[in-house]
Amino acid sequence: MSELVRTVLGDIAPGELGVCDAHDHLFIGSPALPGQELDDADAALAELNAFAALGGRAVVQWTPWGMGPRTEELPGLSRRSGVHVIGATGMHQARHYGPDAPAGVPDDLAGLFVHELTGAPVKAGLIKVAGAYHRLDDHARHVMAAAAEAHHATDAPIGVHLEGGTAAMDVLDLLCGRHGVPPHRVILGHLHRFPDPGIHRAAGEAGAFLAFDGPSRVHHATDWRLLESIAALADAGHAHRILLGADTVTPAARSTADGPGMPFLLGGLRPRIERELGAALATAIFVENPSRAFAARWRP
Ligand SMILES: [Zn+2]
Repeated sequence: MSELVRTVLGDIAPGELGVCDAHDHLFIGSPALPGQELDDADAALAELNAFAALGGRAVVQWTPWGMGPRTEELPGLSRRSGVHVIGATGMHQARHYGPDAPAGVPDDLAGLFVHELTGAPVKAGLIKVAGAYHRLDDHARHVMAAAAEAHHATDAPIGVHLEGGTAAMDVLDLLCGRHGVPPHRVILGHLHRFPDPGIHRAAGEAGAFLAFDGPSRVHHATDWRLLESIAALADAGHAHRILLGADTVTPAARSTADGPGMPFLLGGLRPRIERELGAALATAIFVENPSRAFAARWRP
């Protein structure tokens, strides 16, 4: 069985993925973030087109179940922009599901994830989960157990929202140590919100993919550490584990509004990485690493 990347238009060979924004959102909404929904398909298309104009070929939407991923609209956006789109299943923190959560949340979370990965008309290619700040609460443990079960059933990669970039090693202990998920199938997200070089290195040594998502206004407090964080990881031998994404989560963050949005990854950040850290590392981060991180030996 060969490894394939599961896009919203079907499975493709990893080598077809191309320049990839490894963590972003075309649609997302949460009762915890009122009035900030990404729910405009035209604006999503404009952002994809702006990304494509700079050579962008793939975007991974980390919007999980129940947060308005508008999955049925993703194939059309992918076709019209020419950008591969990978969708997500999974579940975020409980606060993103309103005051009634977990009411309305299916009992069989793993079954829901497996269905969205393998049985839905538009299939997800990633399981998104979330930790808590410097710890894993009961909700996180419950969702991660279901994600691990769905991983074992499908081989899907698991993308983790680390709250404030924290609890990376707790997540790996739980997913890999307890639930047997191979570390290289775990993508730790938001690491640059907590630029602790020791933790980054330990997560790399454990074998996980390391996702840095920014630059953005939301992360302005740590954006300026991004280049040195990447350089430190590359120096420690983890260049092949680093991923970058723009993580656009509000309409204002798009390139067509206040920005910087998806295109800045390629127009602003990539040239700096090439200049300061070398073209080979830029290619690893934007092309080679995503093609491995999101590929799976999909089980039916
Ligand atoms: Zn995100």
